[in-house]
Amino acid sequence: MTHAIEVRNLYREFQQRAGMAGERRSVRAVDGVTFSLSAGDVLGVVGESGCGKSTLARLIMGLLPPSSGEVLVDGRSLAGMDRRERARLIQPVFQDPFSSLNPRQRIRDIVGLPLAAQGALSSRLQADRVMEMLARVGISSEMAERRPAQLSGGQRQRVAIARALVLRPRIVVCDEPTSALDVSVQAQILNLLAELRRELGLTYLFISHNLAVVEHIATEVAVMYLGRIVEQAPVEDLFRTPAHPYTQALLASVLTPEPALGIPDVGLGDAYPDPANIPSGCRFHPRCPQAFDKCAQTMPDNIRQDGRLVECLLAVSPPAKREATPGLAPA
Ligand code: SF4
Repeated sequence: MTHAIEVRNLYREFQQRAGMAGERRSVRAVDGVTFSLSAGDVLGVVGESGCGKSTLARLIMGLLPPSSGEVLVDGRSLAGMDRRERARLIQPVFQDPFSSLNPRQRIRDIVGLPLAAQGALSSRLQADRVMEMLARVGISSEMAERRPAQLSGGQRQRVAIARALVLRPRIVVCDEPTSALDVSVQAQILNLLAELRRELGLTYLFISHNLAVVEHIATEVAVMYLGRIVEQAPVEDLFRTPAHPYTQALLASVLTPEPALGIPDVGLGDAYPDPANIPSGCRFHPRCPQAFDKCAQTMPDNIRQDGRLVECLLAVSPPAKREATPGLAPA
């Protein structure tokens, strides 16, 4: 079966200068990430700041080249595609709609820009497509004549979504698309994204700090830690029976200490490790409440069973039951 998107063994390393002597050190921000999604899936990617989720999004969008590995859409590798071809397949929706929209342009020109860059439609067809897409996201023809500063934050994010979808891409990478919005507007934008997914058969990669938001929109969830996916499972399985100790800590921390931002306090004591100095064995072992002797020496395998991936030496034992996370109800 051909997947809508397939990510194969993706790595990305950065060189940093550190210390008084400015010595070079390498940071592996994404460290062997593999997953595939079918059309209509929504993969929620969660983890603390610095876990590599935004770097993963940028690699998939083609904003950064991978150190190794590849990304395929509908079975075709993105390596070697030019920007226009890639734009027809993958589009982004970013966190801050205000900074991603040109303040001097009218809304209809902003949404028409990706079509103009492709140069494939007459101006009449292009204008029709723009107005059709704006109507789908709830922006009127009168608003289409305005500029971004004349719209609310929620309306601007609707415009950013229309711009992302006007080329009818296969994959949409949503990087914290609701975290700059008021809570009441967040729910409207999430519902709009869910509706557009159903109507247009879209596949989303959905990056978020906010576990309640991910539980609401995702069909599948990947938990990242120090550049690796340490657990991946269908959304209900992951939230009800988290198998990896890190996932358990993330879910136990939900809505604290800053509920409005959804930033978790994982309650794991030690600070997030330095990505340039990854611990031996299981990279989570210095913070893991369930660590045992072997964990400091042995890197766990990816255990895949019953549609779930877990990277933990305890993965052979079934996880304990857990109550559903309070917050937004699943879509
Ligand atoms: Fe914790 Fe050991 Fe499992 Fe790593 S392998 S998550 S340290 S129990």
